[in-house]
Amino acid sequence: MKWCTYERDGETAIGIVDGMNVYDVSNQLHTNSLLEVIAREFEPDIDLDVAPVYPIDAVTLLAPYRPLKNVICIGKNYEEHVKEMDTAGAGKLVIFTKAPTSVVGPEAVVERHPELTDQLDYEGELAVIIGKSGRDIEHVADHIFGYTILNDITARDVQKQHVQFFRGKSFDTFCPIGPYIVTPDELSFPLTIETKVNGQNRQSGTTDEMIRPIEELIRTLSTGMTLEAGDIIATGTPAGVGHGMKPPVYLQTGDTVEVSITGLGTLRNVIV
Ligand code: MG
Repeated sequence: MKWCTYERDGETAIGIVDGMNVYDVSNQLHTNSLLEVIAREFEPDIDLDVAPVYPIDAVTLLAPYRPLKNVICIGKNYEEHVKEMDTAGAGKLVIFTKAPTSVVGPEAVVERHPELTDQLDYEGELAVIIGKSGRDIEHVADHIFGYTILNDITARDVQKQHVQFFRGKSFDTFCPIGPYIVTPDELSFPLTIETKVNGQNRQSGTTDEMIRPIEELIRTLSTGMTLEAGDIIATGTPAGVGHGMKPPVYLQTGDTVEVSITGLGTLRNVIV
């Protein structure tokens, strides 16, 4: 299933996307918070036959939800991306986080923040949505609710100003997520990740190129630390970021960034 959160006539609702339609399942679930549904940790009981249905073009898709905790991000998880970036930390598992306040939805604007950065960059990534809380997780598949697209927007100069990446990764609007969350039964790995800027191909990679695959990431992250339902884990970006171009090319006002992943649709955002 493809789960989304959308707005229609000023009301926020949970939807199931099927082709060009979206089914409103908020009433059946007694909430308009997709995070709340995921946090229940049981299979939602819904009947699309009795759900109100709208053309997807008639609603505005929002971020599926804003997590309660920081988005957990994996860095340097694709070999070719490691090579195009500075080598510091290469070989080690890089883990950092992004503030929940940076989360925005598909089609939302990404702020250029010209007073803070001259080096705005994109990173198209596959994100894992944790569906069942756990510590020392062994059977990883049991703990995954689904997958979505995440653009790990980064101010490269601010990222380097500090020992930790947090600030350069966390300005408002720096974490577009969506357009929907797809359950694992609808996907067949490996998935292809592609990023375009103004229609020009920039990134192309597949999930089997990850240095540390999803199973290993979740086992490592959950060792001694509880992962909770609704936690979001961004799994790293393939090569082709603007910072790695020679000379580097950073995002400018008016640029459109589109990240597409097999089966997950396209996450499109414009820089303002
Ligand atoms: Mg990243």
